[in-house]
Amino acid sequence: MLGPPGAGKGTQATRFAREHHVPKISTGDILREAVQAGTPLGRLARTVIDAGRLVGDEIVIGIVADRIQREDASDGFVLDGFPRTIGQAAALDELIDGRSPLVVVDIEVPEDALVARLSGRRVCGNCGWTAPPGMNVCARCGGPLVVRRDDSPDVVRERLRVYARDTHPLVEFYRRRPSFRSVDGDQAQDAVAADIAAAVASVVGGGR
Ligand code: AMP
Repeated sequence: MLGPPGAGKGTQATRFAREHHVPKISTGDILREAVQAGTPLGRLARTVIDAGRLVGDEIVIGIVADRIQREDASDGFVLDGFPRTIGQAAALDELIDGRSPLVVVDIEVPEDALVARLSGRRVCGNCGWTAPPGMNVCARCGGPLVVRRDDSPDVVRERLRVYARDTHPLVEFYRRRPSFRSVDGDQAQDAVAADIAAAVASVVGGGR
């Protein structure tokens, strides 16, 4: 799933993965878990994430390469937040060589809507669930809702700048492929989910 920060990739990827019984693989979640666990990777990732920059290609490519080899991913998977650079996209093509198709769904949301979404966003400090406005505790696990450290206004600006420079070029990288689809992310969550499901079905058929 492609799209700028705040487009709803995480929410939609979670939903799609649950409905289609495939794992959601989020490099952001994996890196945040490493930060929480205080591993060497986590210590390195923390400063990069807090600055709104990108963790090095080799590191995230290694994470994804390991993760998609696990048994639960043998029938397919949803990638959320990866690839984010042309180098990562090229590596992904190699990783899934022979495991096709790679369906690319770009979630489009205008920039002013992204800033508003990210600056008001609260997530569960326990399970990472993104809460809709007006909630006080996580509806999934009852955990406390917090503002992500990298959703502060300065870091949001940097993340959008990095997206425009490093990640947005992926839309052109993928656009000509027959498995590329673009959906309007500036609609109600259910409508976006329906459009994504239809987009994926139009590539791989309605069977999964
Ligand atoms: P996300 O939850 O997808 O917004 O990711 C949070 C942060 O983790 C990003 O701002 C990056 O610092 C880092 N990150 C996640 N995925 C990647 C990736 N594919 N490449 C580089 N850095 C990443």
